[in-house]
Amino acid sequence: MTLENRPFHTGGCQCGAVRFRIRGALGRASVCHCRMCQKAFGALYAPLVNVGSAELVWTKREPKRFRSSNQVLRGFCPECGTPLTYEAPDGVALAIGAFDDPSAIAPEIQFGIEAKLPYTDTVPGLPVRSSAEDASDNAYLSDIVSFQHPDREMPGDGPGETPHA
Ligand SMILES: [Zn+2]
Ligand SMILES: [Zn+2]
Repeated sequence: MTLENRPFHTGGCQCGAVRFRIRGALGRASVCHCRMCQKAFGALYAPLVNVGSAELVWTKREPKRFRSSNQVLRGFCPECGTPLTYEAPDGVALAIGAFDDPSAIAPEIQFGIEAKLPYTDTVPGLPVRSSAEDASDNAYLSDIVSFQHPDREMPGDGPGETPHA
């Protein structure tokens, strides 16, 4: 494939030990409320996007995999624990939040609805606060230094050209 095969997505785990690149169009994006996805993500539900026919390359380390069932592997960073993949016989899906730019990967369908937590739909109506507002109340937040990998490719993230997004 060539650079003409846009879109070109990148992403990885929180610490940056595991990084990926995708060339080609992603498949369907979803959220899954099933109990296994809740546990695997440590979250109310799992946002995932199918890789589909796009090309997925792990440019540094590969994720470590946990076999969560006879059919499915779940990949995560062995260093920081970020959930990264759902790997089934019919294909691989990636955690939407792991992308450097998750904003354009909008879920289109919900799965596992029988296990949906009873307060999930109340979250958008909860009181809201920005990080800046939090920092004004918590002194340690105002001089916090992030060790999270930035939302772009960095030197050493992998071989080959760096996409200009
Ligand atoms: Zn990591
Ligand atoms: Zn699920």
